[in-house]
Amino acid sequence: VDRDRALGFAEGLLSLPTAPFMEDLPLDHVVSFADDRPRLSRHQDGAGNVVVRYDGEGADTTRPLVLVAHLDHPGFAVDEVVDDTATLTFHGGLGVAHALPGSPLHFFRRGHVDPIGEGVLTAADGTDGRLTGGTARITVGGADAAGFAMWGFAGYGVDDGRIVGRVCDDLLGAAAVLATLDEVARQAPPGVAVWGLFTRAEEVGFLGALAAIRLGVVPVGASILSLECSKALPDAPQGGGVIVRVGDRMSIFEPGLTEALRRAAEGAGVGDQRAVPYQRKLMDGGSCEATAFHASGYRASGLALPLGNYHNAADEGPESGIAPEHVLVDDYLAEIALLTHLACDRSLLEPDTSAPPPWLTERTAAAMELLVEPAGHVEDW
Ligand SMILES: [Zn+2]
Repeated sequence: VDRDRALGFAEGLLSLPTAPFMEDLPLDHVVSFADDRPRLSRHQDGAGNVVVRYDGEGADTTRPLVLVAHLDHPGFAVDEVVDDTATLTFHGGLGVAHALPGSPLHFFRRGHVDPIGEGVLTAADGTDGRLTGGTARITVGGADAAGFAMWGFAGYGVDDGRIVGRVCDDLLGAAAVLATLDEVARQAPPGVAVWGLFTRAEEVGFLGALAAIRLGVVPVGASILSLECSKALPDAPQGGGVIVRVGDRMSIFEPGLTEALRRAAEGAGVGDQRAVPYQRKLMDGGSCEATAFHASGYRASGLALPLGNYHNAADEGPESGIAPEHVLVDDYLAEIALLTHLACDRSLLEPDTSAPPPWLTERTAAAMELLVEPAGHVEDW
């Protein structure tokens, strides 16, 4: 994986502001990405989700590998602006204890990359401990009553081997999909169909993914992979590699597809390094779009990047307020290497299961030899 290229895809997306229902700029970015590459096609569904397709020569397009990432991030809708006071509704999951008065905000107009104003949170509202909205004082510029607000951090930076920004979840997942599609389009392997599905409004209950399912955007024979940034856990730390996900807080994923991911990780290394760094884990700090597809009858699993300051909640605790999210560059590169390897080799995705795995045959033979009396003593029963 070319590090500079991979980081270029991250910078391109993370620099764009977004919030649930306000994903215009990252959606436009994905559309331009597809339009710049003749081997890719794209389609926007009735809900505004974008599908980018690579259909290799002779590929079965009823059974694509579909890489799903969402383009929103928890943030505020601006409801009303009176003089220097903005009233806000928060969309997404964040503990209200983290929303300390004085926390910095940037105000955005839809379709504009740069903020039109800055301010600070003056009061936060919550229900059951979750942030639902609040009020803010505008200190610089203005706010647009049809616009949105994000925590006042830079969109993208690299610091000490980490990608740091106001949004990693899930623009960085989307960047990994772009990097993979870019590589697949260059290599142009025959016989594989690899699609990216870029969804809206995941943070308010997978709404974009559920609409895409209802609209029939993805064929029932597809293999679905959710690419997420997921709260790092003591047992699933940053720096441990990309996470091959066995499930999330709501469901356990399709074991065969999770196994395909493990095998892809094992074979995706370069040079002496046969495997890319990976960890096989249940990430139950949140739920992801694989659960939406799985519950709807699809073959679904996922990968996750271990995330610091999940949903901008400072890892040090509520008294530390809000903070930029971050992901280790090496974990991100491992994810792209795994995905590219998987995407270019159809046999990894649907392994031949007609024969038992070699270890099973060997150990069963050992069991019979060591534990069962000499031949002839095994009786039918
Ligand atoms: Zn999230």
